Amino acid sequence: MTKRLAILGSTGSIGQQCLEIVDAHPNLFEVEVLTANNNAQLLINQALKYHPSKVIIANRDKYALVKSALEPAKIQVFSGSEALESCVLDSSVDMVVAAMVGYAGLIPVINAIKAKKQVALANKETLVVAGDLITRLCREYSVDLLPVDSEHSAIFQCLQGEDHASIEKLILTCSGGPFRGCSADDLSKVTPAQALAHPNWDMGNKITIDSATLMNKGFEVIEARWLFDIEPSKIEVVVHPQSIIHSLVQFCDGSIKAQIGLPDMRLPIQYAMCFPQRKPNAFPRFSFLEHPQLSFIAPDIKIFRNLALAYFALEKGGNMACIMNAANEIVVQAFLDCKIGFHAIAEIIEQTMAKSSFIVAPSIDDYIQTDIEARKIAQKLISKK
Ligand code: NDP
Repeated sequence: MTKRLAILGSTGSIGQQCLEIVDAHPNLFEVEVLTANNNAQLLINQALKYHPSKVIIANRDKYALVKSALEPAKIQVFSGSEALESCVLDSSVDMVVAAMVGYAGLIPVINAIKAKKQVALANKETLVVAGDLITRLCREYSVDLLPVDSEHSAIFQCLQGEDHASIEKLILTCSGGPFRGCSADDLSKVTPAQALAHPNWDMGNKITIDSATLMNKGFEVIEARWLFDIEPSKIEVVVHPQSIIHSLVQFCDGSIKAQIGLPDMRLPIQYAMCFPQRKPNAFPRFSFLEHPQLSFIAPDIKIFRNLALAYFALEKGGNMACIMNAANEIVVQAFLDCKIGFHAIAEIIEQTMAKSSFIVAPSIDDYIQTDIEARKIAQKLISKK
């Protein structure tokens, strides 16, 4: 039996690597749906290669181009966010790979859960924004979220066959990004180009900036809290510059399990796509002799304040992490557009968290309104810079 896939965000870094897994295992997968936002040409090329029944280009301006290119191949083409949100419901889809970036992933993932699809989740923002709601829905509809993020895949792999009650703590590793060891003074001068030069991983722009500010690690703490139902006080972050140990679980007897491998996202992507099976592949192998030094240091949360903000958002609960995510999406874009400096990123997020309306037990509509309000507040703060 092949698994029929809807790959949301197929033109992105994770989406393209997902298709490499399909190439490596042609007998295991069929591509049913591909989606993109702006990259019409790559979406067209992918559709002509994988022959999905449907493609969705979120940006309506690109619809005519994609439609005319795919009409001869009899591939259905849709555009707009409604099409994106409902494509996961098709009965021909078994697994939804949520590989789009940002808040835009929230509603498609909710719809996929309600339609009882298998969900391979790369889009961590979904759990940051509404982890409480998403995990409640997963329980209600008996859907397991399969983590794609390398750290969460590592923890998920370490937990196979273990009793949840025996977990003492989760240890998330963190490369430290391009600015590991920098002083506050050094950071005041960094440029978007420097922030985009991640030492170990080749990823989309947004997550690369999040890695440089450590917001990515903050997001991952929140993601781990919801995926593994663990109290925040039991989630620790350790900087491990080589990105070889992808994360660890410490158990109640003091024993620690780690998952190790080269920094290659295809491994966690394949694990999620093939779960519960482990399939062979020909990707490069890790060798201890080629990496004789693995090192570990504590993160500097005074300099990289976003990590502290994420712990605060978790502790506060309600819609606080949704506010933080919305502000972060706005400031990351402003930093990339050279409208604000590196230090203003955490500053504006913190101010937005203080100024936005706090809701203790948000509904889905509350999350949507929170996202709108927090974006406006963050924009206003940017315009004053
Ligand atoms: P990219 O920026 O490379 O790709 C994002 C994808 O989402 C693209 O296909 C893009 O379309 C699409 N997209 C962007 N905005 C929208 C929108 N508003 N509506 C519909 N589609 C949209 O991101 P990554 O692949 O790096 O990351 C994807 C997700 O996976 C993120 O949540 C990230 O945090 C997570 N992740 C990524 C890792 C990595 O190694 N890259 C590792 C772990 C997690 P288009 O290109 O056409 O504009």
